[in-house]
Amino acid sequence: MNHEERSDTRWSSGALGLDTLLIDGELVEAAGGATFDNVNPATEEVVGVAADGGAADMDAALAAARQAFDGTDWSRDHDFRGHCLEQLRDALVSHHDEVAALTTAEGGAPAALLAGPALVDPVQGLSFAAEMARGYDRWVEDLGTAVPVGVPSHRWVLREAAGVVGAITPWNFPHQINLAKVGPALAAGCTVVLKPAPDTPWAASALASLAAEHTDLPPGVLNVVTSSDHSLGAQLATDPRIDVVSFTGSTATGKAVMRSAAEHITRVFLELGGKSAFLVLDDADLQAAASLAAVMVSTHAGQGCALTTRLVVPRERYEEAAELVAATMAALPAGDPTDPATICGPVISERQRDRVEGYLALALDEGGEFACGGGRSPAHDRGWFIDPTLVVGLDNSARVAREEIFGPVLVLIAHDGDDDAVRIANDSPYGLSGAVYSGDSERAWGVARRVRTGTMGINGGVWFGADVPFGGYKASGIGREMGREGFEEYLEVRSVAEAI
Ligand code: NAD
Repeated sequence: MNHEERSDTRWSSGALGLDTLLIDGELVEAAGGATFDNVNPATEEVVGVAADGGAADMDAALAAARQAFDGTDWSRDHDFRGHCLEQLRDALVSHHDEVAALTTAEGGAPAALLAGPALVDPVQGLSFAAEMARGYDRWVEDLGTAVPVGVPSHRWVLREAAGVVGAITPWNFPHQINLAKVGPALAAGCTVVLKPAPDTPWAASALASLAAEHTDLPPGVLNVVTSSDHSLGAQLATDPRIDVVSFTGSTATGKAVMRSAAEHITRVFLELGGKSAFLVLDDADLQAAASLAAVMVSTHAGQGCALTTRLVVPRERYEEAAELVAATMAALPAGDPTDPATICGPVISERQRDRVEGYLALALDEGGEFACGGGRSPAHDRGWFIDPTLVVGLDNSARVAREEIFGPVLVLIAHDGDDDAVRIANDSPYGLSGAVYSGDSERAWGVARRVRTGTMGINGGVWFGADVPFGGYKASGIGREMGREGFEEYLEVRSVAEAI
């Protein structure tokens, strides 16, 4: 994009209301008409404004969600919920171009990703949510009769909506994460207050606008409060009107959310950070594995919690692996996220760019070197671009091998056989994802089973999908999003017995 093209970047919001909140079925301004700037990370320009919700707006959204849950049939009308979810899916499909464009404008999401996991796939995932609303088969389970403490009894297990859900989401895959919470929560019969990250408010505003204007969702069932103020997340997590806090974000914030939720013993569901390992065994096709690892860590500038950020290769092939990764990284389509070929766009903000640069400096301090990349991209005079980077010369004890960087930075680590590779993968506070490459499927499975993470890809296999549970072990979280398990996160279980 050249400077002339950039000069008029103020976003035309078209049919979608992007500067309003959704509270009790109405698209409303934030109290006092407050707004905040939305900045394009590829150009550093303000592309428009979002509604800047405050504590009073959040309070009104919480009251509306509570009333919609307690005072309506929403949680009991399974077919109607399926119908509303399909309406929401169809509205997102028919506004795809506008929604995709605003998502690239506010978050730097490469257009190519929006055609898949960043927008199209999660929108289609609403079909899965609608199916769960209508077809879930465990609402009532008959356990039959027994004679506990001498009383002949017929026992049932009932499952029902958990109540009001507070959904708090990050900026990296805003539609995917907003919809992975809103879809199953609504399908289960819950009502929702969604608080998106300040960096990508419009993804949620667009959802709010489409829900209000193109669906039969009753007032208060879905509420959306955008805000520049992180403390609204804490307000949400602390409020006694919330039954489940569904949070995706960093592990540090996840801990704060747990502390807030402890106030009223509110259930928490946490999807947190990762430092996932890509294990290459000594019989693997190193070229294929190295290329895939280089592409994965560069996707959306490394801003994906489940991307593999440690490449663990046989010690005797370390140099060869470094050359192969560096060659792929150097040739990767990086830069303007509106270019359909781009894989690696900008990082979200100046703060995030500074954070990634801090880790690059740390890699050198720790004794590492860069086999490619290592800093800001010289191809851009504006925007927060970091070149895909391979760090070599460090082992798994380095901080850059242990801490989540959330940039296009891969750390190459040597292993001394399968057991050592598994040891290195598991030597992490996180346990979100991982990958293994081997010429022998059985051997790859053997290794995959020993890595303590919530997802694993074998020889390039992709687990991502609305019907596949996703989540972490250890500091990567509690619970599972998506799949049947992700739906059940939003249910309560009640056991009932009748004397016979
Ligand atoms: P973040 O933790 O800074 O913020 C996430 C959300 O929490 C935002 O909406 C923010 O406003 C809100 N928040 C901030 N402080 C809060 C508090 N005290 N109480 C309640 N809410 C609060 O994360 P981010 O920088 O927006 O996103 C990047 C992080 O998200 C990375 O660590 C990444 O690994 C993680 N992430 C995890 C997954 C997953 O599914 N495991 C997916 C995507 C991103």
